[in-house]
Amino acid sequence: MFYPEPIAKLIDSFSRLPGIGPKTAARLAFYVLRMKEEDTIDFAKALVNVKRQLTYCSVCCNITDTDPCRICSDKTRDQSVICVVQEPKDLVAMERTREFSGLYHVLHGAISPMDGIGPDDIRIAELLRRLSDEKVQEMILATNPNIEGEATAMYLSRLVKPFGIKVTRIAHGLPVGGDLEYADEVTLSKALEGRRELY
Ligand SMILES: [Zn+2]
Repeated sequence: MFYPEPIAKLIDSFSRLPGIGPKTAARLAFYVLRMKEEDTIDFAKALVNVKRQLTYCSVCCNITDTDPCRICSDKTRDQSVICVVQEPKDLVAMERTREFSGLYHVLHGAISPMDGIGPDDIRIAELLRRLSDEKVQEMILATNPNIEGEATAMYLSRLVKPFGIKVTRIAHGLPVGGDLEYADEVTLSKALEGRRELY
């Protein structure tokens, strides 16, 4: 190793992050070295706290620091509609549109046989439990407009039909193959508005 151990260790930690190659990892590590001590402590605390202070909402499975989360606890929201998304960041994208005032369910992934991810590997059981317990009249499938997202939407649609709940899929003004989180608010609002029922 060319670097002293503490910096080598930090470079190694950065290089484990997605999209960070060895050169960027080294650049970041040396940047940290030049940071003020109090800033590095804040940074380290933020890393630890994201694991210690965040949990999953026992209702919608979103990441939260209170359980149930703020959205599930908000009685002014429409309890009859659940919008199903793949990731917490997709929920944030939907919230940014300010067009949706119902509840959410976060799957934490999508069905992908190619990657060995089946229905039991994402939060589908938790969703079914909500559908039988609560006064849900509509389930909006807002999974990504790609192969995995579509497969998941089809699977959920068939699974939920027997509950007598209206199942809708957001419209495809969205770029096919894209991620929900990258859609702008207008596109996403239109997609929500133009949702169609699945049979
Ligand atoms: Zn929740």
